Amino acid sequence: MFTLPSLPYDYSTLEPFIDTETMHVHHDKHHAAYVKNLNDALAGQDDLLSMDINDLLRSLDKVPEEIRTKVKNNGGGHANHSLFWTIMGGFNNLNEPKRGGLFEVIKNSFGGFPTFKEKFSAAGLGRFGSGWVFLVKSPTTSSGQDLLEIVDTANQDTPVSEGKTPILALDVWEHAYYLKYKNMRADYINAWWNVVNWKEVEKMFTKGGEKK
Ligand code: MN
Repeated sequence: MFTLPSLPYDYSTLEPFIDTETMHVHHDKHHAAYVKNLNDALAGQDDLLSMDINDLLRSLDKVPEEIRTKVKNNGGGHANHSLFWTIMGGFNNLNEPKRGGLFEVIKNSFGGFPTFKEKFSAAGLGRFGSGWVFLVKSPTTSSGQDLLEIVDTANQDTPVSEGKTPILALDVWEHAYYLKYKNMRADYINAWWNVVNWKEVEKMFTKGGEKK
């Protein structure tokens, strides 16, 4: 069975950038529903129910065809939100990387840290309808160099299914921001940068990004 992870901080911790009520609805209702629907879809399939969620999403071909879409959507929802909670909890950009491995790779991949943030925000703003933006670690190149790319997906699709490793995730579904920001997705994205926990992103980057 898959289980809903507790938030690694209090529901009010991300105030005023992300409000307490949104955190309650988002975690206790939306994420909980993805977990429940995933378990329901896989009822009786003990081998699949005992898999790591990322392994399951990497091997959707093992899932019976009649439940594959359900598993992809709800399993993606579970994996994406689990990552999303983990990479928040930092404050006011105080922990933004200024040197070191992740900072250097962001600089090499995007031409600078501010440019990276601009491109990531633009991807979130440009994603039509519901979806996600990810910072994704690509397989290390033959020259031994790590590279990062920005990937945006529709619905609950995850780069994990493409064999890639997301290390930062931004939920741009309206349920992530509508209570506080209404239709102003750009304001939500600008506010969200304040609560990114870069120490966790750095950890994901270092260990390859997998979150059990
Ligand atoms: Mn969400």
